[in-house]
Amino acid sequence: MIKVHLSEIPHNEKLHLCAETDPLCLGLDEAGAEALGSLFYDLEIGVSGISFFATGSLVQNVRMTCVACLESFDHEIKTTSFAMQRDLAGSELVDLTEEVREDIHLLLPMHPRCDMGGNHQCSAQFPTSEFLKSDLRFRKDPGHHSVELHSEEKSSIWSVLDQLIKH
Ligand SMILES: [Zn+2]
Repeated sequence: MIKVHLSEIPHNEKLHLCAETDPLCLGLDEAGAEALGSLFYDLEIGVSGISFFATGSLVQNVRMTCVACLESFDHEIKTTSFAMQRDLAGSELVDLTEEVREDIHLLLPMHPRCDMGGNHQCSAQFPTSEFLKSDLRFRKDPGHHSVELHSEEKSSIWSVLDQLIKH
């Protein structure tokens, strides 16, 4: 939980809050990720008029399962642009957990892959490059395949005609 007492925020100034907390409040299990270690946050918190605001960075290490090879891998969820603003609701204690939870969940990859970081090769076998090349060719020229079939058909028709003429 990330909670702030308004009385801790200096008048007309920002409170610098740099700490770590139990990531259980993030509910990462629901998203298929396992939290590794604590949730780190480094926030500037302040009050402006009737609003409470916080900006800063969040870091959470997670273990996820690769959608391609089904191996688990570690991934760092990090943002330096966390920002929230909320009207003061009268309570002296403000809970930022929900906004932090939302941001972390938005940063979780929808289709996690173990090679996301670029320094690891996924062990999953994929179609050969030849297949990919021909796939690309079809995408560039959708008529290519049918033209090929058509010319094959034509030649077979001619060869049948040739046979008929010869006999
Ligand atoms: Zn993988």
